[in-house]
Amino acid sequence: FNDNYEVKRQAEKFLHQKVTDYKAHPIVVEKSTPVYDAIVQLFLEDVGTLYAVDSEGHLAGVISRKDLLRASLGNRNLQELPVSVIMTRMPNIITINSEETLLEAAKKMIQNHIDSLPVVKEVDQQKNTYLLLGRITKTTITRAYLEIMEK
Ligand code: ADP
Repeated sequence: FNDNYEVKRQAEKFLHQKVTDYKAHPIVVEKSTPVYDAIVQLFLEDVGTLYAVDSEGHLAGVISRKDLLRASLGNRNLQELPVSVIMTRMPNIITINSEETLLEAAKKMIQNHIDSLPVVKEVDQQKNTYLLLGRITKTTITRAYLEIMEK
């Protein structure tokens, strides 16, 4: 009984953790960055997803590994092609707020078949502008799970 209770308590705790306490640093490129440079950045930073921002620093797009692979398959000049042409754009980006929970983040990733979520703060709802505060990935969820269960 005690063991069961303890596991339940830990699981409960895991589910209610806030995004703000687990978010990682986002790796950002300007949306005019060439696809070639974005690929180099992906390797240098050892991440799976890059975020693109506009000249005002607002979130403009998401660039995943598959987006970069798809762009590389065509015989285009990757040094000339800006990431803005291949990225998933606003308003189609699934985001999360700092005060939401890891459970909500996990649900959004699974339901939308994506590996990561930009953590954002809304600047202007009508204009759909967001400031980028961080990122949550499937690895974040796995790490949080381990941390809490090992305690
Ligand atoms: P990969 O391409 O490496 O499998 P994902 O599964 O995260 O990585 O990405 C799949 C597709 O979903 C890509 O086209 C990517 O641009 C898009 N995508 C990734 N994250 C998001 C997000 N948070 N909101 C909307 N689209 C996204």
